[in-house]
Amino acid sequence: MARYIDPSCRLCRREGQKLFLKGERCYSTKCAVEKRNYAPGQHGQSRRVKVTEYGLQLREKQKAKRFYGLLETQFRNYFDKAAKKKGLTGENLLVFLETRFDNVVFRMGFASSRKEARQLVTHNHFTVNGKKQNIPSFQLKEGDVVKVKEKSTTSPKFREIRDMSISTPSWITVDTDKLEGKVVAMPRREEIDTPIAEHLIVELYSK
Ligand code: SF4
Repeated sequence: MARYIDPSCRLCRREGQKLFLKGERCYSTKCAVEKRNYAPGQHGQSRRVKVTEYGLQLREKQKAKRFYGLLETQFRNYFDKAAKKKGLTGENLLVFLETRFDNVVFRMGFASSRKEARQLVTHNHFTVNGKKQNIPSFQLKEGDVVKVKEKSTTSPKFREIRDMSISTPSWITVDTDKLEGKVVAMPRREEIDTPIAEHLIVELYSK
């Protein structure tokens, strides 16, 4: 599956806010948004664009895509699935994105960013309900148990997680000692802290 491989910090600078794409660096003074909080490129500092309604909607969609590390087609497919499902399309969309396997691994604290989570998943470090699972877009559901594979538990990456206290959203529990986590419920909108105004995305795609 295709993925974005250009510098991540440009994406944050383009959106004018931290998207937390690089793990620990994002919380340090090395963060590019802290150092150069203006759009990238030659005219980044001088650009004065009048923001239209369409522009606002477009930026919100781009931000959501970038938060979850998706490309346009993948994101659009999630939107179409969300629109077909009962309930509010915007909320359905966020729930689909949150319950992607790579995002859940990140939320469980097994990775410092979604990008790292995606890599750990594709490198076969986890099982879901006891079975091998290495597809980042795999959709988790209530009751699913994610566990670090036995042979990966000795790696320094996972050994250090055992000593950490991890704060997770309320729809997830984690046992760092066993290196496993559970989706105890599907997330509700108020439990998703990604700063996205999903109604703007719905408006954009409904044009
Ligand atoms: Fe974004 Fe993290 Fe880079 Fe800061 S360090 S600009 S939050 S990816």
